[in-house]
Amino acid sequence: MKPSSSLSTALKEQIRQIYADLEARPLPRACQLSGGCCRFKLTGRTPSVTRVEALYAAVGVRAAGRTKLQPRADGACSCLGKDGRCTIYQNRPFGCRTHFCEEAGGMYPRKHVADLIRRLEALDVSIGWRNGPRDFPEALEDALEDWK
Ligand code: SF4
Ligand code: SF4
Repeated sequence: MKPSSSLSTALKEQIRQIYADLEARPLPRACQLSGGCCRFKLTGRTPSVTRVEALYAAVGVRAAGRTKLQPRADGACSCLGKDGRCTIYQNRPFGCRTHFCEEAGGMYPRKHVADLIRRLEALDVSIGWRNGPRDFPEALEDALEDWK
């Protein structure tokens, strides 16, 4: 089966539900919303995303009126706005919702979210995607290029 390059309404709803289920089990974190963790070159950490998450993030980019993103010279996420805030906040991937710097309390333990990750991976299988999760910048760029 050829992997799908777009998300059905039902798939979008399933992704939103997974993110909502994550929000329903928060762990105490003291995030100051500084956007520091969006600066991948600085942190040395890049979020990994499933294909459906990359497509869902692309929906957010398109909703913000853009069809392409320019890589940033400073190595920060290209979705990071000039004001230091995420421009696709509602559509940001799971990794961005569970990764916190050490000062803020650290990344969510895998066991806290493993079932949700499995649900995201199952959605990839449902669209015929077999390449597994990928680094967010490349995955998002491809999702935008493949947009239909
Ligand atoms: S998608 Fe948003 S929250 Fe995630 S790294 Fe990029 S700017 Fe930060
Ligand atoms: S987790 Fe840390 S680096 Fe990331 S936005 Fe919050 S305070 Fe800033």
